[in-house]
Amino acid sequence: MAIPTPTDTRGRHLRDLRISVTDRCNLRCGYCMPAEVFGPDYKFLPKADILSYEEITRLARAFAALGVTKLRITGGEPLLRRDLPQLIAQLRAVQGIEDIALTTNGLLLPAMARDLKAAGLNRVTISLDSLDDATFGRMNGKGVGVAPILKAVEAAQQTGFAPVKLNMVVQRGVNDHEIEAMALRWRGTGVVVRFIEFMDVGTTNGWRMDDVLPAREIMARINARWPLQSADPNYPGEVASRWRYADGAGEIGVISSVTNTFCGDCTRARLSARGELFTCLFAAKGHDLRALVRNGGSDESLAKAIAAIWRARDDRYSELRAANASPVPKAEMSYLGG
Ligand code: SAM
Ligand code: SF4
Ligand code: SF4
Repeated sequence: MAIPTPTDTRGRHLRDLRISVTDRCNLRCGYCMPAEVFGPDYKFLPKADILSYEEITRLARAFAALGVTKLRITGGEPLLRRDLPQLIAQLRAVQGIEDIALTTNGLLLPAMARDLKAAGLNRVTISLDSLDDATFGRMNGKGVGVAPILKAVEAAQQTGFAPVKLNMVVQRGVNDHEIEAMALRWRGTGVVVRFIEFMDVGTTNGWRMDDVLPAREIMARINARWPLQSADPNYPGEVASRWRYADGAGEIGVISSVTNTFCGDCTRARLSARGELFTCLFAAKGHDLRALVRNGGSDESLAKAIAAIWRARDDRYSELRAANASPVPKAEMSYLGG
């Protein structure tokens, strides 16, 4: 299949694919799936609507043929999807895929870490917003304490995922008082904490600019305690800016998606659990790839369709937001997987 690797209308390549394998989750983080909205009556996708592992793998092959080398498995909570290691093994066999990562809330990770590693998973990111049981329980909407997540970090480290990354979504007045505690807890452990600005994904999380603690303030606070030096990105288009502790105790990442946008380098596509291609985290609508897969399209026709969508891509939501010109509506984060 010789289809030239596409660039979008802003000259950006297609390099990374985030695959949401389920829209369900065992937590209800207020900034993502608030319990008032995602309650007992919420209608999640029926199984028949969700891509099978074979369908995901076929699509991954088409994306890889167009230049995608990195995959991230996400959700909802991806570990809720049955036999996930099987999908990892199938994706591992796709030619051109160099790196497969997983973002998880960690609850089910200790039982699965070894199988995921054996199947070929390269990297794990675990979400942990607080080290305090009360704050964390409030933030995750289910009263779940910190201990199971710490166990997940330990399991990931013991299994040989290195470095393990932690995502902390910082909300002013909710958990921003814990920035230094989080940095201190993981300094010198090899775990890389990534401090993430609270984003206005979806339409249900009640986002207000006042709730965002700008990345430069996060860094300034950490830098005041433990001086930081800037480090080069691991690869072009990396979303987190990297900072190293000057005393050699490791590094942190800061993701400034609101106050310092990085649309110009954005090489990420997103595949929803029901098989839509989203060309931006903030897009209102996806492109239906499932119909193409289920209607018997060839691998080549799939890749051609994806290339055409990518070539037409013009998204730069965060830049527009920064200029106060952001479009609405948008899809939900739990649907797209972050
Ligand atoms: N359930 C998994 C987890 O929590 O790690 C994977 C899916 S979750 C949607 C992916 C990442 O998006 C998590 O690290 C989460 O903290 C982050 N996220 C969700 N909503 C966010 C928001 N409004 N602003 C910033 N990050 C957000
Ligand atoms: Fe679930 Fe992850 Fe969203 Fe929290 S951030 S509600 S764990 S999908
Ligand atoms: Fe990429 Fe859209 Fe985020 Fe900009 S707003 S960095 S285009 S996902």
